[in-house]
Amino acid sequence: MMKAARIQTPRRPVKKPSNNLKDPVGVYCRVRPLTTEDTECCVEHISNTTIQLHPPDGIKVNRNGEFKEMQCSFKEVFGAFTTQKELFNVVARPLVEDLIHGKNGLLFTYGVTGSGKTHTMTGSPGDGGLLPRCLDMIFCSIGPFQAKRYVFKPDDKNAMEVQGDVDALLERQKRDAQISIIPKILSSRHRMDPEFADMITVPEHCKAEGVDEDSVYSLFVSYIEIYNNYLYDLLEEMPPDPIKPKPPQSKILREDSNHNMYVAGCTEVEVKSTEEAFEVFWKGQKKRRIANTTLNRESSRSHSVFIIKLAQAPLDADGDNVLQAKDQTIVSQLSLVDLAGSERTNRTKAEGSRLREAGNINQSLMTLRTCIEVLRENQMYGTNKMVPYRDSKLTHLFKNYFDGEGKVRMIVCINPNADDYEETLLVMRFAEMTQEVEVARPVDKPICGLTPGRRYRNQAFKEELTRKLELRGGPINGEDPSIAEALLQGFVPLPSVEITDANDEQTLPHLIECLEQRNKIRHLATEEMKKTVNTIRGMLHDWDSKFTAKENYIQDQQEKLLEKNRFINGQKTETERLEKKIKTLEYKIEILQKTANIYEEDKRTLQQELDERDQKLHREQSDKRRLEQRMQGVMTDTKMKWEKECERRVQAKQLEMQNKLWVKDEKLKQLKAIVSEARTERPEKPERPPREKEKKVHVRSASPPSVPFPGNTVASLPISQHCPVSGPQLHRRSNSCSTISVASCISEWEQKTPEWNKNGSALPKNKHSLLETPQVRGFNFRERRQGVNKLGGCKIDGCRREVGVDQDGPRRNAPPVRLLHRRSRSAGGERWVDHKPVGSVETDTVLQPHIPNAITVAVPNEKALAKCDKYILTHQELASDGEIETKLIKGEVYKTRGGGQAVQFTDIEKLKQEPPTSTRKRRSSQSAPPQQEETTESEWTDVETRCSVAVEMRAGSNLGPGYQHHAQPKRRKP
Ligand code: ADP
Ligand code: MG
Repeated sequence: MMKAARIQTPRRPVKKPSNNLKDPVGVYCRVRPLTTEDTECCVEHISNTTIQLHPPDGIKVNRNGEFKEMQCSFKEVFGAFTTQKELFNVVARPLVEDLIHGKNGLLFTYGVTGSGKTHTMTGSPGDGGLLPRCLDMIFCSIGPFQAKRYVFKPDDKNAMEVQGDVDALLERQKRDAQISIIPKILSSRHRMDPEFADMITVPEHCKAEGVDEDSVYSLFVSYIEIYNNYLYDLLEEMPPDPIKPKPPQSKILREDSNHNMYVAGCTEVEVKSTEEAFEVFWKGQKKRRIANTTLNRESSRSHSVFIIKLAQAPLDADGDNVLQAKDQTIVSQLSLVDLAGSERTNRTKAEGSRLREAGNINQSLMTLRTCIEVLRENQMYGTNKMVPYRDSKLTHLFKNYFDGEGKVRMIVCINPNADDYEETLLVMRFAEMTQEVEVARPVDKPICGLTPGRRYRNQAFKEELTRKLELRGGPINGEDPSIAEALLQGFVPLPSVEITDANDEQTLPHLIECLEQRNKIRHLATEEMKKTVNTIRGMLHDWDSKFTAKENYIQDQQEKLLEKNRFINGQKTETERLEKKIKTLEYKIEILQKTANIYEEDKRTLQQELDERDQKLHREQSDKRRLEQRMQGVMTDTKMKWEKECERRVQAKQLEMQNKLWVKDEKLKQLKAIVSEARTERPEKPERPPREKEKKVHVRSASPPSVPFPGNTVASLPISQHCPVSGPQLHRRSNSCSTISVASCISEWEQKTPEWNKNGSALPKNKHSLLETPQVRGFNFRERRQGVNKLGGCKIDGCRREVGVDQDGPRRNAPPVRLLHRRSRSAGGERWVDHKPVGSVETDTVLQPHIPNAITVAVPNEKALAKCDKYILTHQELASDGEIETKLIKGEVYKTRGGGQAVQFTDIEKLKQEPPTSTRKRRSSQSAPPQQEETTESEWTDVETRCSVAVEMRAGSNLGPGYQHHAQPKRRKP
């Protein structure tokens, strides 16, 4: 028989899954609770996913420790206290959801006998298992969208046909007639076996999401038993034969056009509720039990396969009828498999034929293991070994789940009893292996191209139509039972058709007449109906066109709306862009404002600075003007001074020249005289050989003196001038002195001045020369010999010849005279000669010289000097710093022996203005010798200064013994 099956279903190229996504077989573990008789537990629950097997003590002893501890992991482990509901939610629910969405699924329980496979799959009384729960969930989900019975009609090629409403109705009537013959197997719930009735009482119903409302659904169930590698249809109806009951006929496997395997000729019962489905199942279950009893089979040796097939077809465009298109019909199936016990044959003491059966059962599970192994190998190592699906009906039936696509889940049931240890170990190894096999994930079925929401639209339309027809008055719908009734009421009642007499000629003609009348009415009604149908069709078309127009309008409006939306979006984007721009510009403005403020601030600062500089400039300009004015004043002064100087020098030169001229004249005269004397009185004067010089002096004294030197020239005068003697004495002395030129006197004095300075200390030895004491300086005024100095106001002779006088003194035996008389102060206070030369500038100093009781003169004269005993000269000069320095040169007036006046300088007071920042004073420190100071202070002077500025001496100066300024003797004309 097996061979035959192989021949009948030759291998075909396997249809490859349409996607590459694969999921491993989901392997879950359920550990049942220990029974009261069980003593030892060999299973330890380690975690949610792992359990551990402990070998019982006895086994260790017997097998020499061959068995070890073993851990095994699953997708999830459910313990003894797991409820059916919990298990369902995790394991079966996703499969049901897949089924409703047109995807296939396979769920099987695996384990040794008594481990709880049936408890898990079917459930126990009062505690429904996965099967009733799956059915409940399916009906809860598709309930309102179920097709009328017989709309879907399974063909014998594992496909589903969709029938029209009329055909379905006819089918229904046919089946109903059959039911009247065969006692109803589908009964209401109250007739259900109370043993399992509460197994389908599910307290909480659950529902799948995403059920297509525009489709109709129908559920078909089939129940197959695989025993000894034979397939039996547990739902097959066979008329009971009380005489000789037929043994159940085995079924064969076929492959449909989609390469799915199916049991050919298997009963598929369309069920409309959970109760109905479960009743069908229970019927099969009962049949199975009976068969097992009658054929002396052990139920644990068979595999039971409960197939739930869900057919789904979309409603047509009107949403009124089911679309009769095979390609639009989706059929998905969920197979719930309660496998036979996985234990080995020796476990149950089977004998004879039963042993063979057990071997076969075992064989199918062995094949399952082999298939899983090969699949795993092929997937893991990329090999292409042939999977021996065909070696057993079980594997062959589910081949497509592993080769094609679908979701496969296995619940490994474990009895923790130590007696089952060895078998449990094998179960666990199989479970481990199965987890490594991957199955292609089922893809979503394409949705038909019809608009969604057809069903409710059609319903709404129907309601509206009914309402309108009612308003028009008259039922029209042929299908409506009320209309049919109305029609039937219009028929003439049938007369009695009972023929009592063979000659009865009235009954039949009457019946014929009646039937004819009825036929006429029927024709009329049909006509009427046709008309109505046409009217309705027209209305429908009308409605349809209106609806299309409306739809078009709506689409149009929607397009417009979209357009508007796009426009609005565009505007929004533009607005956002502009807002951003505004923000950027605002920011820029802010920055510019700040910059402007900074510039404004800068401008203010610069303006302020400018103003300050302007003011400074003004100040500087005014300072400059003032300085200019001062400089101009100074320049004018200097210019005047130099003009005077030049004039003075010219005069000096003139004088010198005149002197030379005079000397020559004198010489000439003397020569003349000598010549004339020699001629007249040469022998009369032999006493003393006249010395040339004396002669000259004499001659000179006889002749008018040369023009006196200008005051600013330190002129050398004849010795007689230095001697405070009277005029005749001078003359006499002059005679005794050799005649010398004024110029030579000056040069001599200049050369000797340093010596005087040096030898000043030695000079006082000469007691005759009172004049030459360092303290005494001055000049003599003599009658008839007045010198006018424009600046100094006096003629100053620095005369070294005095030394010569003193030296000559003893030689000439002149008596020592007191050179200077001091005027008696008791005579009545001090009187001053205030000598202010012409051109003196008024100083604007705060300190002003105030001399009481003074005779102010521009040029000192003898008359004034005679009256006073003090002399003061206001001398001004330009200091090197450009300031005018006023010196008050003080002196005392003495009467000379010759009756003239002599001034001895005693003191100098300085009056000077200078800027406070000047450092000049500091530079001329006290330690510096006055001589040096003088030199530094007025470089430009030197000889000229010494000549032009009278004589400047300070008290205590070691410049030398005082210079006597003699009043310039009036030039006597020769
Ligand atoms: P199997 O089908 O594997 O041979 P069964 O489902 O028939 O095993 O279980 C044997 C016994 O154990 C039954 O009486 C069942 O009620 C009980 N049983 C099994 N699993 C459980 C469980 N998880 N909880 C309670 N009782 C269980
Ligand atoms: Mg069982």
